[in-house]
Amino acid sequence: MLRWIIHVDMDAFFASVEQRDHPEYRGKPVIVGGLGNRGVVSTASYEARRFGVHSALPMATARRLCPQGIFLPGDHRKYSRVSGQIMAILDQYSPLVEQISVDEAFLDVTGMEWLYPSPVEIARAIKRQVKEELLLTVSAGVAPNKFLAKMASDLQKPDGLVVVEHGREQEFLRDLPVEKLWGIGDVTAKNLQDKGIRTIGQLARLEPPQLKRLFGENAVTIHNLALGRDDRPVISGHEAKSIGAEETFEHDLFAADDLRAALLALSERVGYRLRREKTAGRTVTLKLRYGTFQTLTRRRTLAEPTQIDETIYRTALELLEQQQGAGSGVRLLGVTVSQLEPERPVAPSLFDNPEEKGRQISAAVDQLRRKFGAPMVVHGRLASRKEGKETKDD
Ligand SMILES: [Mg+2]
Repeated sequence: MLRWIIHVDMDAFFASVEQRDHPEYRGKPVIVGGLGNRGVVSTASYEARRFGVHSALPMATARRLCPQGIFLPGDHRKYSRVSGQIMAILDQYSPLVEQISVDEAFLDVTGMEWLYPSPVEIARAIKRQVKEELLLTVSAGVAPNKFLAKMASDLQKPDGLVVVEHGREQEFLRDLPVEKLWGIGDVTAKNLQDKGIRTIGQLARLEPPQLKRLFGENAVTIHNLALGRDDRPVISGHEAKSIGAEETFEHDLFAADDLRAALLALSERVGYRLRREKTAGRTVTLKLRYGTFQTLTRRRTLAEPTQIDETIYRTALELLEQQQGAGSGVRLLGVTVSQLEPERPVAPSLFDNPEEKGRQISAAVDQLRRKFGAPMVVHGRLASRKEGKETKDD
């Protein structure tokens, strides 16, 4: 049976959601991201990209390039709600959906031909349904593997659909620039270009000793990618190895209250995603980066797997408190839950068990969030939370 993977990528996701919800922003350069000194662009609308604004650009540069832009801090609760709606649509098309970021996912649609005439028709149906139900456009790549599907979804943005047929992998890659290849950063790309290697096709034709010299231990992986070979499986949510969230702050945090509030917000994001994926994990990891850029991680393994905000928060807080006295402000905090396993149904007799009680409360909060979207339900302690400017879920 031929393997077919679809990569789905929302077009200028945060900016498109804002343009959808604010008609006055449509057709205009919209830039979402951290608006402060350390802010970076999360998403730029296609109108803003014409001015050279793109994601990860420092906000100060974006303002200089596009002074007439509409600059927004973004509403991450709203984006994660819309993300949930997108993932719920994808779940209708395959049992194997791997969400890789807030607006991107892989679907393994191998063997789905009994439902659809072809994998391309599945991609068309997904694009149509997202457009009709959520008024957003998505680009899709359909290919024999993850790597090619991701390359394909990027080629005709926005609203693109690109198919790589089996047997045409190398033809598809041949003329694409080397820097498009996974694992090739700017420095490596420059180095390759200096040697006259500009396309993936040229890279694919190199001999093993030459590849070894250029890429060291990654030589085989990179050569395989250049040949269009990639056998990594699509791993659905509950098979994922970990679920985490982290945040870089506008200003280094010093006050214990601020640190606690930030930690709680991260724990809530992680808990929400664990419950959405119907999974729970035993190990809670705290990532801490000081203003000095010194970074450390500390972890604790619990007796029972958890998916509860409160449990994740308490564990992460204990880990944080053990690090006190370092004297330096905190630039970044991250919380990750790993050693995941499917959530277990709990017998009614265990209702007085605190884990189950917490689970029911968390589930009720999720339901309200899905219904009202806006921060209707926020723990009281969060009220004083300072808004972080660069956030990332992984
Ligand atoms: Mg995207």
